Amino acid sequence: MAFLSQAVGRIRPSATVAVASKIAEMRCAGKAVISLGAGEPDFDTPAHIVAAGHQAMLDGKTRYSPAPGVLEFREAIAEKFQRDNNLTYSPDQITVGCGGKQTIFNACLATLDPGDDVVIPTPYWVSYPEIVAMTGATPVFVSCSVDKGFRLDPEDLAAAITPKTKWLILNSPSNPTGVCYSKEELLGFVEVLRRPENQHVWVMTDDMYEHIVYDGLAFHTIAEVAPDLYERTLTLNGLSKAYCMTGWRLGYAAGPLGLIKAMNKIQSQSVSSVSTFSQWAGIAALNGSHDFIATHNAAFVNRRDLVVAGINAIPGLSCPKPEGAFYVCVSCGDLIGKKTPAGVVIENDEILVGYLLEAEGVVCVHGEAFGFSPAFRISYATSNEKLEHALAAMHRAFGALE
Ligand code: GLU
Repeated sequence: MAFLSQAVGRIRPSATVAVASKIAEMRCAGKAVISLGAGEPDFDTPAHIVAAGHQAMLDGKTRYSPAPGVLEFREAIAEKFQRDNNLTYSPDQITVGCGGKQTIFNACLATLDPGDDVVIPTPYWVSYPEIVAMTGATPVFVSCSVDKGFRLDPEDLAAAITPKTKWLILNSPSNPTGVCYSKEELLGFVEVLRRPENQHVWVMTDDMYEHIVYDGLAFHTIAEVAPDLYERTLTLNGLSKAYCMTGWRLGYAAGPLGLIKAMNKIQSQSVSSVSTFSQWAGIAALNGSHDFIATHNAAFVNRRDLVVAGINAIPGLSCPKPEGAFYVCVSCGDLIGKKTPAGVVIENDEILVGYLLEAEGVVCVHGEAFGFSPAFRISYATSNEKLEHALAAMHRAFGALE
């Protein structure tokens, strides 16, 4: 009898977390690396948020938090939903998790059984299918091809839904494509979900990149544009990206009370709660000035333009211009089958990013981890100087392929 569970056998480790660990190891070993790997802003957590976390510790907010989260934090989240999204959630309809990832995990564990399906548009964030698979349910992929600008076609969505479908996972702005759906596009998906045969399908909308949107585009979310879907929508968000709080581990979700209670039950028997002082820092983040977001976005848009122009100038690579988040999804089909100067055949995108790391110390994540190949993802949440170095390195390394 195998000792390890079937659940662990069904999943792969997170490629994005793996690159972050690899970079840390390489830096410890004294190697110079440029990380375009894990997605986290290079900006520090704003000082007023750090000060609030520090003050919370000094004030003795160092004990257990209730499993769903500190009430004052859930009140601040409820206000945020009202203010930014015109969505009314009471604090008991809100649950706080250790990053967005844990709220997704709790929601999946609370709702999925073997035999259930979850519709996931591709390219997807690496963790969606793995979390679904952990529960024994089946991820059902809907391809959003590069020719369609990585956008989900409502009829492709309709074709993927069966009586077994429990959830559709939406992520806009998207990690890794940067696609940000307009209100009209969301209403296209809503029309499919409103069909009589699709009334059993719920939507898990991951809005983690809500505030990182460019070119004057407006952010919208499903329950806001379709109030009739409020009762079958779980709205997920978190503070990691826009507030530069990746290490504080603050994600949250809001939805119908029965689902949130079930998620809290799971949380109470797993991590118990998110760290208490992190949540107090989160209150300061949500209730404080948001001026820094515009400053960060101005830097991000500049970096996006630098990377998109740089990538499209490298023979064999191409990418569309993302509308939000801080990733670029780069197609690299023309490089597959070529040989490195050492004679290694580039059979797939994983070998290609391995070669780039070996040859130039530049870290990217291979596209296959996001369900999109041959490609790789660049996180451009780093300085212009490093991006310029990385682009020059790619030019050299990929130009040396025969
Ligand atoms: N979400 C980020 C990424 O895609 C951070 C790592 C992770 O949790 O996946 O790189």
